[in-house]
Amino acid sequence: MRSILNFVPTPLAMAWQGPGQPHQVIAVPHVQLEAGDALVEIEYATICGSDIHTASGHRSATAPLVLGHEQVGRVVATTDEAVLSDGTPLVVGDRVIWGVIVSCGQCSLCLRGLNQKCEALRKYGHEKLGRGWELNGGFATHAHILSGTAITKVSEQIPAPILAPVSCATATAAAALRTSRELTPMTGKTVVVSGAGMVGLAIIAMAVSQGAIVVALDPHVERRKLAVKFGALIALDPITEPLAPALSQAGLEAPLISFEASGAPGAVKSSISMLGIGGVAVLVGSVSPSPEVGIDPEAVVRKLLKIVGVHNYLTQDLEAATSFMENSWNTLPFADLVGPSLPLSKLDEAIEVAKSGADVRVGIHPDPA
Ligand SMILES: [Zn+2]
Ligand SMILES: [Zn+2]
Repeated sequence: MRSILNFVPTPLAMAWQGPGQPHQVIAVPHVQLEAGDALVEIEYATICGSDIHTASGHRSATAPLVLGHEQVGRVVATTDEAVLSDGTPLVVGDRVIWGVIVSCGQCSLCLRGLNQKCEALRKYGHEKLGRGWELNGGFATHAHILSGTAITKVSEQIPAPILAPVSCATATAAAALRTSRELTPMTGKTVVVSGAGMVGLAIIAMAVSQGAIVVALDPHVERRKLAVKFGALIALDPITEPLAPALSQAGLEAPLISFEASGAPGAVKSSISMLGIGGVAVLVGSVSPSPEVGIDPEAVVRKLLKIVGVHNYLTQDLEAATSFMENSWNTLPFADLVGPSLPLSKLDEAIEVAKSGADVRVGIHPDPA
């Protein structure tokens, strides 16, 4: 069933105009929901590292577009066919998060389980502004959720700044864990996580919850402190503290799994070279152009290594991330990861604050009515 909605007040979105240019507010007075679509009022959004890359011109994107893909909101309108990821009908008033991708579920890539590479892929916070789907990013008052999007319901008691990053960082971490689990078990094994940003910290917490002994690597002392708070046994500066002596001093074996969440070329290289026999390197942080990295093919062969890339995630990963957060938000310091929050109308200022890197995340909240 199709429905055309005219909202008061009119939904607004912040349209990015290109690197170095201020956002412009656009009004979207008519929202047309097709079968399976829903409209969500955004409660809170966070600025992901990839938003900063795009806003800074470090990766290609065609303006104008509405950035933002980490957010939580409440359903304000729905169609009969709109459902949560578990098939339950979506109801007005549901507090929800949703996945970053819209996939068709029928093309050859979707049928291979690679929905994040769907031939008809659309991504929230990444698409050039077009008529009919203007509300497609998190930096807006509302989001138009399309059929083919994974949606999960979240508890009322979890603070919004904790929930917003689940739809990118935490779900990506869940995908990285699932990918490694498909290749080798991690219980009781040494696992190294490079990069203690939002994705890395979530990987640390999830790996610890699955019985791994985690060593974190990050050049920033504050991030190393966070890594320990999220369960890492040891947190090292990869520049000044060599890994191998630290592992033997702690009585740990060579890592069986390394998660590379920083994207730094040196960290990518060492995430492969550090592995023990049968080790698995999961690369997840390299999401903007970077120099090529040399590998030692003989070591890959002789040590029977596996190197695997993880980009975005599947519906099951959003579900795993949601239930992980439901279980751990009040025992792990996820709230400490979101620094200041600014109103939507001050998005340009908020992006500048986020660029400084002082906080893992900067938040965006609605302007007061
Ligand atoms: Zn993101
Ligand atoms: Zn598809």
